[in-house]
Amino acid sequence: MEKIVSDREEKEKSGYRRLFVEIGARIGKSLFFWGMAAILAFSAYTDLVKLGDAVPITAAGEDKRIALTFDDGPHPVYTKMLLEGLAERNVHASFFVIGKNISGREDLIEKMYEGGHLIGNHTFDHVKICDLSGEAACEQIEKTSALIREITGEDTEFVRPPFGEWNKSMECSFQMIPVMWDVDPLDWTTKNQALVKQRILDKVKAGDIILMHDCYESSVTAALEVVDQLLAEGYEFVTVEELILE
Ligand SMILES: [Zn+2]
Repeated sequence: MEKIVSDREEKEKSGYRRLFVEIGARIGKSLFFWGMAAILAFSAYTDLVKLGDAVPITAAGEDKRIALTFDDGPHPVYTKMLLEGLAERNVHASFFVIGKNISGREDLIEKMYEGGHLIGNHTFDHVKICDLSGEAACEQIEKTSALIREITGEDTEFVRPPFGEWNKSMECSFQMIPVMWDVDPLDWTTKNQALVKQRILDKVKAGDIILMHDCYESSVTAALEVVDQLLAEGYEFVTVEELILE
């Protein structure tokens, strides 16, 4: 009788033991599972934080700066249209104006200046500097700079030599900084704004200077579409002075 009882007790005891072991194992497994889940969640979170930290640096940082430049203006219709479009987008550009185009369009030079754009020199008659004598070349620059100074009250230090030809050994009474370009969509060869836009977007990268002309409607429309696209991609538009000197 005693033996039977003790056998039963033994069985019950071992039954409880099994139960405890099983409960223990289940708790252990579940702790392990939730522990792993917590570790994975934490590491994913820290990755996200790292990613989150990185986004503003590249989005608004100095790495993604581009300078839009416009030659051959000011044009009474299209330069005005461009200035309005840039103002709406709070974007600054650089205008290399032709001296002989300024007369009668002083209000546009004023608008450029008030809008925070850079005004540069593109010679008076849109000439190849290298084809001229030293004196005539200096006069082309000086006459244009004087007209700009009369309107803005400031000297311009930047020149975009027509056809990209600059004479480094030119000795004028003033020093100019020649500004070339990285992306040339040849916007003057087509009226197809989508093509101009595509040529720019295919090539442009951070730190680039884009060459365009504000005397064509298709160029102005393409430029504003490029601005919208690149702003959405986190690029910032600056003047050539900011891009080169800072
Ligand atoms: Zn030009």
